[in-house]
Amino acid sequence: MEINFNKNGDGLVPAIIQDAITKNVLMLGYMNQEAYNTTVETKKVTFFSRTKNRLWTKGEESGNILNLVDIKNDCDNDSLLIMVNPVGPTCHKGSDTCWNEDNKQSYGFLSELEDVIRNRKENQKDTSSYVASLFRKGINKVAQKVGEEAVEVVIEAKDDNEELFLNESADLLFHYLILLQAKGVELKDIVEILKSRS
Ligand code: AMP
Ligand code: ZN
Ligand code: ZN
Ligand code: ZN
Repeated sequence: MEINFNKNGDGLVPAIIQDAITKNVLMLGYMNQEAYNTTVETKKVTFFSRTKNRLWTKGEESGNILNLVDIKNDCDNDSLLIMVNPVGPTCHKGSDTCWNEDNKQSYGFLSELEDVIRNRKENQKDTSSYVASLFRKGINKVAQKVGEEAVEVVIEAKDDNEELFLNESADLLFHYLILLQAKGVELKDIVEILKSRS
């Protein structure tokens, strides 16, 4: 469908800029038809700047350009979702996003869990925490737990009790996340390797 540039009577539509890989929202800008065409032709995100009152290719001074990956119209064709690969920080104030955030990859709940585990590693004296107690016992003990949980997964894989299999799988993943932290690495390091192989 055609983009409706005239909904607000100013020839502009809002363009939400999203990192194609991390999915973080980087900034919001406005495009007119010409800015849109330029973006598609040059594959570098170009806005209509209301302050400069002209076409503005993001990064034209700073070099922090936004390389176009894909554009999607919304449900009623009056706003755009633009997926990009950013070069450098997107905000002119120096941060990765215009909301003063780091443009880091998140794995949803697994990343939250990783944060909790990191926190326990940093507060190992917490005697009420199972995870802290594992860190206190040292890396060999943590690695051994991963081995035990892996064996339990293998045993349950042979059976047909799905609930037990799922629970042992959760135990394995949980202890594996603890082992990664004990080794001083993170889930993202593993994902990077998997990505580089594909
Ligand atoms: P740049 O397009 O990165 O070369 O920056 C040129 C100028 O555009 C800056 O000095 C700011 O005035 C403005 N600018 C750059 N990035 C942003 C942004 N993310 N949001 C708003 N204004 C910006
Ligand atoms: Zn809409
Ligand atoms: Zn900004
Ligand atoms: Zn188990």
